[in-house]
Amino acid sequence: MKAHLLTIGDELLLGQTTNTNAAWLGEELSLLGIRVTRTVVVGDDAAAIRRELDRAYEEASLVITTGGLGPTHDDVTKTVVADYFDRPLRVDDRLRAQIEATYRRRDRDLPAEVAALAQIPEGFDILDNPVGTAPGLWYDAPSPTDRTRLLAVLPGVPQEMKNIVRASLRPKLRDRPGLRDVTHRTLQTTGIGESDLQATVGDLSDLLDAKLQLAYLPSTSGVRLRLTAYHADPDRAEARLDALEERLRDRAGRYIFGTGTDTLEEVLGTLLRRRSLTLATAESATGGLVGSRITDVPGSSDYYVGGAVTYAYSAKEDLVDVPHEMLMEGGAVCEPVAVQMARGVRRALGAHIGVSTTGVAGPTGGSDDKPVGTVWIGFAFHPDPDAEDSDADDPDAEERTYARRLQFVEDRQLNKELFATSALEMVRRQVLRTETSTADSPR
Ligand code: ATP
Repeated sequence: MKAHLLTIGDELLLGQTTNTNAAWLGEELSLLGIRVTRTVVVGDDAAAIRRELDRAYEEASLVITTGGLGPTHDDVTKTVVADYFDRPLRVDDRLRAQIEATYRRRDRDLPAEVAALAQIPEGFDILDNPVGTAPGLWYDAPSPTDRTRLLAVLPGVPQEMKNIVRASLRPKLRDRPGLRDVTHRTLQTTGIGESDLQATVGDLSDLLDAKLQLAYLPSTSGVRLRLTAYHADPDRAEARLDALEERLRDRAGRYIFGTGTDTLEEVLGTLLRRRSLTLATAESATGGLVGSRITDVPGSSDYYVGGAVTYAYSAKEDLVDVPHEMLMEGGAVCEPVAVQMARGVRRALGAHIGVSTTGVAGPTGGSDDKPVGTVWIGFAFHPDPDAEDSDADDPDAEERTYARRLQFVEDRQLNKELFATSALEMVRRQVLRTETSTADSPR
């Protein structure tokens, strides 16, 4: 089934509100197997909304609107859709009682517009709004041309809209036969650019066709692979996606860290928790971004001990024990400093793993041998986090260190994000190696 999204509100056109409803609904519908073929933004303007409804039903069976449902004079959506389908507005007694009860519970005066709020177009169903007053509306419109014409009218406030979709609209759509015509699957990769990934994956022409497609979606945390199958039969769709996923994993599996909406920091967290390993960070160029991303994950205190932002030479010397001479000799952006930062923070905070970033984020500070975008990521691991020094009698218990130089772009903000992603990815890879063989050198 094809759908059009109609996001309504002057504030969207003026750029005062970011259209997050369209992004959220686009993803939600695609997960239900519904293909969104058009999303538009229109102002609170009756004529413009009518025009877009005409246009939408030429192509799509389902239209979802958000916004303009409230009690204020600029909220025109309900009146327009009632008029569009030629349905009179009538007060719904149950809804009116509900709205009155809500206002009473909140100890607020009933607004004069309560009667208007409780009106719904005749023949429309109510989609209950558990967190606001204006409910969503649903209409399965009789069509003069046998075309399915479904309409969901939702409030603009994102939290209200999402609650209505989850509680009422999603089940309604899911139970409808003949709705699914697209199935998506996502593989999350990192540590490789879009074109290198495409080259690594190689020729897929024996698998891909108009009904099975692959898209590369790059971002600073990696390249998402979106696999799409256009089949009404879900078993057929899944079988074709399985074949494509198997090929991708076979060719580029080492770069794939997760599926769906997994983030690198979540996957890393799960890995560290499973291995009962702890992590500490020493950050120069990323200024705390690595620690911030790690702590975006609820429960990260199970494995993240803490970190130091060691930006100046003095901070590197005082907090993570980088020798002054080392900095004088090679500057802050070099292999020995990256390694020492990782080792120093690991020891200072008593963690199994230390990871560090030291680089040239730009736009200034680059040189011929260390241009803007250069970063060294350092890594240190010790199976006994409290051990001060390596134990010569037990080579497996020795601290292992590793560092890697990477080269990114000219943009400071992008570099910080790419450096942070690289640090997280280095820890993930090294921990995976530790899983298979603790005795191996991490290199
Ligand atoms: P209300 O009952 O509050 O009037 P409503 O359904 O009439 O709700 P609007 O008045 O259109 O919705 O929007 C309310 C608020 O919701 C806006 O100020 C804006 O912050 C947010 N909003 C509206 N549309 C969107 C959108 N497409 N994406 C993100 N936020 C939105």
